Amino acid sequence: SHPLMDFDPELALALQNEARRQEDHVELIASENYASPLVMAVQNSVFTNKYAEGYPDKRYYSGCEHVDVAERLAIERAKELFACDYANVQPHAGAQANAAVFLALTDPGDTVMGMNLAQGGHLTHGNPANFSGRHYEIVPYGLDPQTGLIDYDEMQRIALETRPKMLIGGFSAYSRHMDWARMRTIADRVGAFFWVDMAHVAGLVATGEYPNPLPHAHVVTSTTHKTLRGPRGGLILSRGQDEAFYKKLDSAVFPGIQGGPLMHVIAAKAIAFKEALQPEFTTYQKQVVTNARVMAATLQARGYTIVSGGTDNHLMLIDLSTKPYTGKEADAALSDAYITTNKNSVPNDPRSPFVTSGVRIGTPAVTTRGFGEQECAQLAGWMCDVLDAMEAGGSTLTTVRDRVRGQVVDLCQRHPVYR
Ligand code: PLP
Repeated sequence: SHPLMDFDPELALALQNEARRQEDHVELIASENYASPLVMAVQNSVFTNKYAEGYPDKRYYSGCEHVDVAERLAIERAKELFACDYANVQPHAGAQANAAVFLALTDPGDTVMGMNLAQGGHLTHGNPANFSGRHYEIVPYGLDPQTGLIDYDEMQRIALETRPKMLIGGFSAYSRHMDWARMRTIADRVGAFFWVDMAHVAGLVATGEYPNPLPHAHVVTSTTHKTLRGPRGGLILSRGQDEAFYKKLDSAVFPGIQGGPLMHVIAAKAIAFKEALQPEFTTYQKQVVTNARVMAATLQARGYTIVSGGTDNHLMLIDLSTKPYTGKEADAALSDAYITTNKNSVPNDPRSPFVTSGVRIGTPAVTTRGFGEQECAQLAGWMCDVLDAMEAGGSTLTTVRDRVRGQVVDLCQRHPVYR
């Protein structure tokens, strides 16, 4: 028997069930992925035992010579991957990287401009429930209601009127390219810092499938676990700024908002960045984008509306606002068929953020497990079957759901994640 099962059967069972769920369900949550066995092995290593407050060669504790190697490797690889000259690999997660940028470049009460959460922005870009919304004067920008695309003219108008100290680019639910150059021009016109949070598209940026914000932004943050496919974690990057600016960013992470860095996670980031530098990672990211296009086209061919009319990255939003059911209900029905998505607001959503009129899907995880165009078209077709059946309701839905669940499990078993 397994030592974990002997010591803690309750937890062991939860872990076993989660492993099974990840194998048997199709994962379409756009922010999720499957880290490699090497990434997970290093994250599960003795590096977890080491305190290393400070930075390589400038630690507050002894015995850091080996964790220093790991952190230096992570830093150098991150710089190579994103073509920049500064990297801080210590933020525990994306939210911490973002908090550090706020702390480094702004003061509480400053005006900051970010994408409206309801239209694709992230909580840490100024939501009232988040520290960013509580401590700053947030002016949101958003989408053109006609096209579903970012309205840059309106963004510029608001910026000129409110003169923010910082302009935030980046998103959690936008399926098109962001015009980094245009946003930098707007920031320059009002003397604002331009910060891009590329968490969702970092993997695509690393391989050139999505425009790199680093030539345009003063600072870029990311997570390491979405398209980038590393351990859960955060990252801060910059290029072309002076040493004082970089020092400010470092000090904002430690001692600004964090204590000891998670050295096991930093070591796993080093592995993930090395993986991302391999040619296969480019092949993977190209397939992520191709798969997303195929899913969007299949959904559209079956009469479903994709916000902005399609996708140029790894994700898309299905607009269900004309349907008799909600995003929440669609999410639940798909989940019953072992297809995991998340409910998401659509532009001008008449329903609350807890109910919504949309579903967000993304292809990073299914592409990692080897789904290509054929599997993605099939999958999108099954989703349409379930959604169509929701309009019919009753026993039709039950029948379709059970049939799709069987097909999903079968497809998943032909594409195991960790075998
Ligand atoms: N930034 C963006 C754009 C995100 O989508 C997310 C995660 O959903 C985050 C930051 C936060 O990352 P974390 O969950 O690691 O704190």
